[in-house]
Amino acid sequence: MEVPSAPFKRGKVKDVYDLGKDQLLFVFSDRVSAYDVVLPSVIPRKGEVLCKLAAFWFNYLKTPHHMVRLDDSNKMVVKKLKMIPVECVVRGYLYGSLHERLVKGEISLPVKPVLASRLPEPIFDPTTKSDVKDEPITPEQIEDEGWLDPEQIGALKETSISIYNVMSNRAEEAGFILADLKLEFGFDEEGNILLADSIGPDEFRLWPKDQYEPGKVQESYDKQPIRDWLAKMGYKKTLDEARKAGKPTPRPPELPPELVASTSRRYVVAYERLTGLTL
Ligand code: ADP
Repeated sequence: MEVPSAPFKRGKVKDVYDLGKDQLLFVFSDRVSAYDVVLPSVIPRKGEVLCKLAAFWFNYLKTPHHMVRLDDSNKMVVKKLKMIPVECVVRGYLYGSLHERLVKGEISLPVKPVLASRLPEPIFDPTTKSDVKDEPITPEQIEDEGWLDPEQIGALKETSISIYNVMSNRAEEAGFILADLKLEFGFDEEGNILLADSIGPDEFRLWPKDQYEPGKVQESYDKQPIRDWLAKMGYKKTLDEARKAGKPTPRPPELPPELVASTSRRYVVAYERLTGLTL
């Protein structure tokens, strides 16, 4: 299909165009972001994987969603919604910022602070939506902002956790652990809450089950290798320091070609194993 000339929103990894008639067009690019920063390198076939995987999940989950149809390999038409400005994060494992918050004593959880350990049950851990850095937000803050009433917050929590459980079971059958997941929702014109945005490797952490070992950084099929490489190169530290000092985002480095190639393969393999389809 023909793509309108100006994006409605140029996102980090996908461009969104307004089609009128209350529809948006998502164009999934091969761009990649880590620590909320878009990197200068692109990952071949990533856009196609993200688009087709999102379509697979929208069809697979029983939750009402915004997808209207697919166009080409990397384009999706969706219903335009009034977005709820919250990232609905569900975590089944102690990893990433949740682990950091526990180690720093900012939160308490019924689990030892061992990296990558399984939580007794999945938790709903929502954050704000920010272009700089997403921060944890409590249900009370969501209510105080006037975004949702307590009943809607409860429903969102329940839906998010149940989606995590369904996806987690599917991942398990495909030989993966779904460590955590980020979902977004929005209101349609009748006030119904629909599952929105996309669901793919940029929205979750996927670990190969056979290499799972608590207490260490996990081998992963998502972009954790990119995050780990950026940390090893010192970029993560520079970025954290710049953010703390309120300075502009430092320029991220170009990824080495073998990391680009292996990341591309990971995206394709994750798609094929999760869906049982060939790309
Ligand atoms: P970001 O990384 O900032 O989320 P994206 O590339 O994902 O950027 O941009 C997509 C934007 O479109 C997000 O702000 C998301 O909340 C919004 N969005 C997703 N689905 C819909 C929808 N159905 N209607 C309106 N906005 C949407």
